[in-house]
Amino acid sequence: MIEAKTTSSHIELSEDRLGENIDFVRSLLKPDTRLSAVIKGNAYGHGIKQIVPMAERAGIDHFSVYGVEEAAEFQRSARPESGLMIMGYIDPSNLGWVIEQGFEFFIYDLTQLKHALAAAKELKIPARIHIELETGMNRTGFDEVHLDELSHVLKASEDFLRRCGICTHLAGAESLANHYRIKGQLKRFDNHLKYFKNNGVEFETRHVACSAGVARYPESHFDMVRVGILLYGFWPSLETLIEHLTKTDGKTDPITSVLTWKSQIMTVKKVKSGEYIGYGSSFMANREMTIAIVPVGYAYGYTRSLSNQGRVLIHGKRVGVIGTVNMNMMAIDVTEINNVANGDEVVLIGTQGENRITVASFGEMSSQMNYELLARLPHNLPRIIK
Ligand SMILES: *Cc1c(COP(=O)(O)O)cnc(C)c1O
Repeated sequence: MIEAKTTSSHIELSEDRLGENIDFVRSLLKPDTRLSAVIKGNAYGHGIKQIVPMAERAGIDHFSVYGVEEAAEFQRSARPESGLMIMGYIDPSNLGWVIEQGFEFFIYDLTQLKHALAAAKELKIPARIHIELETGMNRTGFDEVHLDELSHVLKASEDFLRRCGICTHLAGAESLANHYRIKGQLKRFDNHLKYFKNNGVEFETRHVACSAGVARYPESHFDMVRVGILLYGFWPSLETLIEHLTKTDGKTDPITSVLTWKSQIMTVKKVKSGEYIGYGSSFMANREMTIAIVPVGYAYGYTRSLSNQGRVLIHGKRVGVIGTVNMNMMAIDVTEINNVANGDEVVLIGTQGENRITVASFGEMSSQMNYELLARLPHNLPRIIK
């Protein structure tokens, strides 16, 4: 038998680190604030199947996904008693299934509310709903003008609409530039809460905060927080980390990436000064260089926008991606590293020795890069729990 190694890279997951990151997030919360682990985007690329049981062993009993497909994947790997909330799109034809499973879900407008009510009545099972309010992101959520009709329907159909929660989502809490917008959202959320209270419409939980809300806006924690990126060991932005360290007098990052994405060197070669490397002319060697080829490209989720920008780890040192990221390969600069050979381990995200690669750590890069790169990690890469 040939030992099967069919992929050019793989992912290792650390259960210990996930547990430590969960403990860190809990340390930022009041003891009675519930922590819902966000596992959309295939658990930020880590794998729903792998992350859910690990998170459950670390004490997580509530999860959040975006859609129905992820809910089904969750169900195949979760304990029956773990709660699930669907935060995004549900095709009306799937509402019956969602209600039957007892999953909670966001309701973001009157049309969807009516669909959910009809489905619940038909099944004679109450739908477990979370009302999402528009507070300034201008994406999904009930506009203020519809609150009267909303509270009327909620009160008239209490037997079929269980009011599990009321919530909103912050529009960029990871950046100080959005501070006034976020403050405005929190104010509007408070006003809407008062409106419902005055109308005698109560909800079981109030929730607003994502990772950045948890780290920066304690007043956004309410009864539950929906946390993704921090659990996996990445900050929503470098700014959020720096602010946290400043506030706590901390010296070192309290979280570590759960995931390590590893590949290996395919081949090594010398390039003369003045030669272009890879397709076209985006990189010219300005000295004699040693380059190594890594068999990972944009087809595997290593985004093309990291051409001439990305960093990887080899022999415990950080080196740059040079030239354009190709569909299946990229070149790295190993001129300063001795004895690089075929088969040497390359870390694309995560840690190697003392060093660490998180995409957002490339100063000028958009903070959203961590999210995007993680979410694009192919489903079929082997994920090994360590
Ligand atoms: C993705 C998402 C979150 C979690 O965001 P993180 O920044 O990863 O913590 C929370 N709430 C909603 C509605 C989301 O879509």
